[in-house]
Amino acid sequence: MRILALANQKGGVGKTTTAINLGTALAAIGETVLVIDLDPQGNASTGLGIDRRSREISTYHVMAGEASLAQSVVPTAVPRLSVAPSTMDLLGLELELANLPDRAHRLRSVLQGLHTHPATQNITYILIDCPPSLNLLTINALAAADAVLVPLQCEFFALEGLSQLLRTVDQVKTALNPRLEIQGVVLTMYDPRNNLSTQVEADVRGFLGDKVYGTTIPRNVRVSEAPSHGKPVLLYDLKCAGAQAYLRLASEVIQREGRMPPPAAAA
Ligand code: ADP
Ligand code: MG
Repeated sequence: MRILALANQKGGVGKTTTAINLGTALAAIGETVLVIDLDPQGNASTGLGIDRRSREISTYHVMAGEASLAQSVVPTAVPRLSVAPSTMDLLGLELELANLPDRAHRLRSVLQGLHTHPATQNITYILIDCPPSLNLLTINALAAADAVLVPLQCEFFALEGLSQLLRTVDQVKTALNPRLEIQGVVLTMYDPRNNLSTQVEADVRGFLGDKVYGTTIPRNVRVSEAPSHGKPVLLYDLKCAGAQAYLRLASEVIQREGRMPPPAAAA
C-alpha cells in the first residue's frame, strides 16, 4: 500500500482535482484506491458524488478517535475507488488536538489499522487531499505518507510557494517521518499558449529536474465542469484532454515507484 499526500499550501492549484482524477485513473488501470478527504471544504467528497447526508462518519470522527477509518469509507461510482469524506467539523479539530502529545500522528495511527479490516485491506493506493495550508491536518498527512505529490499551477509565485513547501517537507522528514520523499510535482492548469506557463515550467524543471512529471495537466473546461456533476472527469468525458492527461499521470506515478501495473490492467 502506497500513501501519497497531495499537498500545496496554496489554494486553487489543483490538489482536489488531482486527488479525484488521479485516484480515478489509478483505479481505472487496476489499482484499489482510497481518497482521504482531509480538507474541511469537502470538495473531494463532493466531486466524487458523495452528498452531505452520506457523510455521517467523516474524517473528523476518524481523526478525533471517535470512529475507525474503515467505518468512514464509502464507495464511489468508480469501481475500486472509495473515499473517506470530510465535513466542516474538521475545522475544529486543530484546537481539539492542540494539547495531545500524538497530535501530529493521528492519521498515521489510524492508517495502521486499515489492512486488518476486510473493507480496506485490498487498498493499494491512498491519496490524501490536504487543505490549502500547512496546518496540523497537512502535517498529519505528511507524517503518515510515503511520499508527497505536489500539484503546482504555473503562475508567477509558484517557485516561492514551492520552496516553502519543500522546507516543510524537510522539517517533517527530520522530526516526524524519516521515510517521507517527494513523489513528484505535477504542473496543473497548463496553457502552452501562455508565455508565463512555459516560462514557469522551464524554471520549475530547471530547479527540480526529474522530480517534475513529464505529464502536464492542461487547463480544460471539462475538468472544471465535472465536479458539479459529482463525477471525475474520466467518467464525465473520458476523451477530453484533461481525462487523458490524468491517465498518463497515473502510469507515470506507478512507473516512478518501479511497480508494474496490477494484473487487472492487462485484462
Ligand atoms: P485546490 O484543491 O488546490 O484548492 P482545486 O482542485 O479545487 O484546487 O482546483 C481549483 C479550481 O480550478 C477548481 O474550480 C477546479 O475545477 C479548477 N481546475 C483544476 N484543474 C483544472 C484544469 N486542469 N482545467 C480547468 N480547471 C481546473
Ligand atoms: Mg482542495
